[in-house]
Amino acid sequence: MTGSLNRGHILIVEDDRDVGTMLQRLFRSEGYAADLAPDGQAGLHHALSRAYDAMIIDRGLPAIEGVDLLGRLRRSGISTPTLILTALGTLADRVAGLDAGAEDYLVKPFEIDELLARVRALLRRHPAATRTLAIGTAKFDLVARTVSRDDGSTAALSGREADLLRLLAEHPSRPFSRDEIVSQVFPDAAADSLVDTYVYYLRRKLGAGAVTTVRGVGYRLGDL
Ligand code: CA
Repeated sequence: MTGSLNRGHILIVEDDRDVGTMLQRLFRSEGYAADLAPDGQAGLHHALSRAYDAMIIDRGLPAIEGVDLLGRLRRSGISTPTLILTALGTLADRVAGLDAGAEDYLVKPFEIDELLARVRALLRRHPAATRTLAIGTAKFDLVARTVSRDDGSTAALSGREADLLRLLAEHPSRPFSRDEIVSQVFPDAAADSLVDTYVYYLRRKLGAGAVTTVRGVGYRLGDL
């Protein structure tokens, strides 16, 4: 099922179309949400614009090579646990991947079951304990449920406010209908009006522009 965040949200960066599509289908069929980036540039964009639970990065990518991509992400403060896939299996390659900040390393061709097991292990070893999501220049701490800005101010959110902001912030350009927000954020309550109430709360805490109304559709992330 796509869009499910139950087992975790995985980013796959793989330029081989067949392998990339296969991996995306595999993880989706296992109950993960999985995004596929076909090159390093797209991978960089994805990884910087939303929080993933784990990343699988192919080492051999055009333009930005996999190890280089991971190095850039680590320097940008993205600490998402990462497994590097590579056709190269020498010690030097392995060291380069780990030096760049990868948690694990798998040589192609690999067994599907081994890849799944290693990703499960990654997620177990690195629970979303220190995760932050960048919203423009603001930082959204998913665990502390705080939004900190450049100017040093911090807003504390309730659980539901944080869940709503997280949904919008993980898909920054996508508008959500009230029904979608209810099903993803307030599954225990069926009232659409709850969505408007929590949008009001978020705007009160983060500024009127924090959530944008999309006429005829619903809401999307605004500017913090
Ligand atoms: Ca490749």
